[in-house]
Parts: sequence; structure tokens; C-alpha cells
Amino acid sequence: MTDTGDVSDSASNFRLVERMLPYSSSIFGVTGARAVELNAINLGQGFPDTDGPQLLKDLACKAIQDGSGNQYPPAHGMPALREAIAEHQERFYGLEVDPGTGVVVTTGASEALTAAFLGLLNPGDEVIIFEPFFDLYPAGIALAGAKHISVPLRIVDGGGWHEAATKSRRGFRLDLEALEKAVTPRTKMILVNSPHNPTGMVFTRTELESIAQVATKNNLIVLSDEAYEHLVFAPAKHIPIATLPGMFERTITVGSGGKCFSFTGWKVGWATGPAQLINAVRVARQHMSYVSGGPFQEAIAEGLRLPDSYFAELVASFKAGHDQLAAGLMEHGFEVFQTDGTYFITTDTGPGHENDRTFCDRLLNENGVATIPNSALVDHEDLFPNYVRWAFCKQPEVIDEALSRLPK
Ligand SMILES: *Cc1c(COP(=O)(O)O)cnc(C)c1O
Repeated sequence: MTDTGDVSDSASNFRLVERMLPYSSSIFGVTGARAVELNAINLGQGFPDTDGPQLLKDLACKAIQDGSGNQYPPAHGMPALREAIAEHQERFYGLEVDPGTGVVVTTGASEALTAAFLGLLNPGDEVIIFEPFFDLYPAGIALAGAKHISVPLRIVDGGGWHEAATKSRRGFRLDLEALEKAVTPRTKMILVNSPHNPTGMVFTRTELESIAQVATKNNLIVLSDEAYEHLVFAPAKHIPIATLPGMFERTITVGSGGKCFSFTGWKVGWATGPAQLINAVRVARQHMSYVSGGPFQEAIAEGLRLPDSYFAELVASFKAGHDQLAAGLMEHGFEVFQTDGTYFITTDTGPGHENDRTFCDRLLNENGVATIPNSALVDHEDLFPNYVRWAFCKQPEVIDEALSRLPK
């Protein structure tokens, strides 16, 4: 039997709990499986097609050979990695976190997020998320029996990090009024994702200050998904919301070793913050995976201590992929939205202005290029009828081949 990743048919869902029914299929699983079937170029799923540093591979192999981390590591993460995470937060952002009580190592950023939902939300609590969203958020919030409230990002002309630019492209920005209106007495948490997947936008300091004000005024927890913290293109800059005045105490910051080091299969992530919040994540998480792979933790600890040149080269290589794909898409008549980071570009559906799902299906089935329709990542489909996410974390030849397959 082939695993299509699609578990949405009603026969297989006969026993699935009701609150998970809306999440039974994942657009990434379905698109990825179809791409394999068709031997298509997969610009749908966001994984780099070039592995991270050889040094980290060697360290992981050495740790296995030396018997370091082959048996259950400590539940909240190996001390060496927790210290490296704390050092990293201090080195890049001046954030002081306690490696003893303020850090937890997780099975990818994914588990940090789900554990935060399970450890901090009561049934019926509301979590504000920005739309379009990473598909794990609504599903993880539903696992906790809580409810997500999606606040659409606004499409505006220029602005953001490019205020001064003479020729500006349209981009996605915070809609503060919509955020303020979304808060109810049941709101417990705001989930901030910057750099933002799928749009590639990066929240400015002003936007983060506005979110911080809403959180403070309503006494909300902030869960900040910073998986792409090292993939930000100048002049944009990554600003952890925990660095804003008074925000550390109410913020859980989530990071991903997979995204920082181009090893998305290793699944080492983390959460940092004040002891009270991190403890809630730890309690839920220790009953999920209990621990994450020991030898990979050793290697990621060294990765976090790599010199600045590593992080500069990482972002430069992805920026090159971005520039190549953006230029090619513009040549083909697509509107390319401003991208300030991540692995992704957002466009419209081109000259035909088709519905995004129709466009993506046709592009995959007829042209052999997989992409993701944004309407699969929203609640308000009417607001996002024809936007498409393209991954540029691919080798130049692959991007070229994808471009050559596009309809002329
Ligand atoms: C990839 C991704 C994650 C998950 O990271 P893992 O470390 O692979 O679990 C979380 N949030 C966003 C926005 C992502 O794109």
C-alpha cells in the first residue's frame, strides 16, 4: 500500500475524535505524495535539498560511536545543549535565560508548540493566530481542546522594512485593529510567528510593540515561533518579541535546530522563557516523546556555537535561491510579494487570476511543479482566494528546472 499521507476519507476516520476531524489531512502530505507519484519538482514542502554542515554530521556520528546520548538523555534536554541554547539567546539577542529552569529541548519546534498548547491551555481557551498560518497551529490547539481565532494579515503596498524603498512591492502586514477586536475574555494566548510561514514576512519592531501592548493589556501569554530566526534578509531583522520591555515574563520562544542547520530530519527543537512558563511546557512534553534523540542534541549544541560566518553564509545561500525564484516568477507574470525571510515566496496565481487550488492542481498535474495554495492555510478563504506559496530552499538547477516548466 502506498502512503499518500491522506487520511481524510470517512472510512479511516470512523474512530477519529471529533475535534481532530477538520485536521485529518495535511496539504503538505497530500501534495508531497502526489509530487513523488508524478516525479514532479517539489516546491511545496519546505525542506532544503542540501544538507547542513559536514561538521555536525561528523559530530552526530561520533556521538553514536562513542556511546554518548545513545541511552535516554535527561528529560528536559542534555545539559550541554541547554547551555548552548542559553548562550545562543544571549549572543544573538541579549536574552538571559536560565539553562537550568528556562530551557527545554523538544522533538523539533513542532513538539515545543504542541507541548505549550497542552501545558498552558484549558478546554475552551482561545488562542489568536495570524492568517495564513502554519498548519500545525490549529491542529495543536484543537488537541488541547482549545479554540484558535485567526486574524488575517493585511496586504498593503510597500511599507514594513521597505518604507524607504522607491519601488515597493505589496506585502503582508499586521492588522492591529483586527487583532484588538479578536481578543475576548476567553483569550489566553497570542501565537506570533516571525519570520512568518507561509508569507515570508518579518514583523517590524513597531508591529511587535503593538502585539506586546495587546498581550500586556489583556494579560496574555505570547508563544513566539521563531523557527526561521536565522533566515532573515536585510534590511529586515529578526527581533524576538521576548526582548521588548516587560515581555520576557509572558513569552515562550521556540527555536528549531532543523531550520537553523538544514537538518529538518533530526527533529531537535527548543523552548526558552521564564521558569513558570517553561515548566508548563516541560510537564506536558515529558509525557509526549519524553526525550529527543541524544546524539543529534550533541551535534546541535556545537552548531549553536558556530561562528557568525556560518549564519551569514546560511542566509546568503537562501537569499540567492529567493532572488533566483523571485526574478523567474516575475518574468512569468506573477505578482511576487515582498519576502523578508523563511524558505518561502508568496505570489498571486499569475495572469489568469485563477483560484489558488485550481492553479496549484494544474501546475502539479500538467507542469510537474508542486506548490501550496494559501487557502489551505486559512479560515477566511474569501480573503485569500488566489495566493500561492513557493519554496526556494532548493538548488539553483532545481529552481531553474521548475521555472522552465511554468506555463509561458
Ligand atoms: C518547520 C516549522 C516548524 C517545525 O519545526 P521542526 O523543528 O521541524 O519541528 C515550526 N514552525 C514553523 C513556522 C515552521 O516552518
